Amino acid sequence: MNEFRLIRDYFTENSFSRKDVLIGVGDDAAITQVAQGQYLATTTDTLLEGVHFLKGTSPEAIAHKAIAVNLSDLAAMGAEPSWISLSLSLPAVDDEWLGAFSNKLKALTEYFSVQLIGGDTVKGQLSITITAQGFVPPESILTRSHAKPGDWIFVTGTLGDAAAGLALLKNELMIEDKAARDYLTDRHHYPTPRVLAGTTLRRIATSCIDISDGLLQDLEHIVSASEVGALLHLDKIPISKELGTHVNDLESALKLACTGGDDYELLFTVPEEHRVSMETAMSSYNLPVTCIGQVTGAQGKIDLRLNDSPFSFVSVSEKGYQHF
Ligand code: ADP
Ligand code: MG
Repeated sequence: MNEFRLIRDYFTENSFSRKDVLIGVGDDAAITQVAQGQYLATTTDTLLEGVHFLKGTSPEAIAHKAIAVNLSDLAAMGAEPSWISLSLSLPAVDDEWLGAFSNKLKALTEYFSVQLIGGDTVKGQLSITITAQGFVPPESILTRSHAKPGDWIFVTGTLGDAAAGLALLKNELMIEDKAARDYLTDRHHYPTPRVLAGTTLRRIATSCIDISDGLLQDLEHIVSASEVGALLHLDKIPISKELGTHVNDLESALKLACTGGDDYELLFTVPEEHRVSMETAMSSYNLPVTCIGQVTGAQGKIDLRLNDSPFSFVSVSEKGYQHF
């Protein structure tokens, strides 16, 4: 099969077509229309076999994760996703793999109302790069840099599940209970991009980031960009029942929650005057949020407390995932 047939068979038919796409897949470039009065947010993420997913990961999980990590970045900026492009490097043309991958891609683009508008296909080591774009109104952009002392620190969902799932897949963690094992490995393979939470936080949150490299490392990004400090109550960190009940001790669960990557939950700061309206909005959408601490004026310092006592269990190098 040549490259053109591959593109035609797997990536030309979109299950979701948007009116703002004038020319999509098929010409030399896509032509799209940016909605009036909106800014365009653009983000790119690559998933490389052996680095971002284990060899043998299903094409469905790879497609899901490739989209999720990109939409998660848009969510963290308060942007509503509109278009994606896909750059695919494949070792060989495997129809079964491509069929499963492109079907999952179609299902997700439809679910999130985004359209695949183009890409590139080359032969090489298995690697998936997606560029995602979305709209955000001026004055509504969420950044890492405007947290203020006194703001409350919140996270969506539960933390540590994806890291536990990866540890299970690598046989570095043993859990007897099959349902718990499945839940945790699913959280690793199928993270939930918090798109609705991101747009809900517009004009409410003073800073926002998605947790891709671990809570402590990503909180550090907010702390340094905002030139503030943070007080974190480890006992408040939301831990799923599957993680909490089945991992030997609280400290191991907390370590996964604080330093494990790939949760793709949002970490954000909210001033006191917006706290109640934020919690009301989130609960009306059934989006779980938990207050885990407070921004302080202690520039660059993250204070960890467990049941109000100072606590430390991680060295600097263990804060989270780093590539180099
Ligand atoms: P060119 O040689 O002009 O770069 P290509 O042959 O690479 O064009 O691509 C032809 C069309 O197919 C373009 O519109 C491109 O965006 C699209 N395309 C190529 N690969 C993919 C892919 N993996 N997913 C979606 N669209 C793709
Ligand atoms: Mg090309």
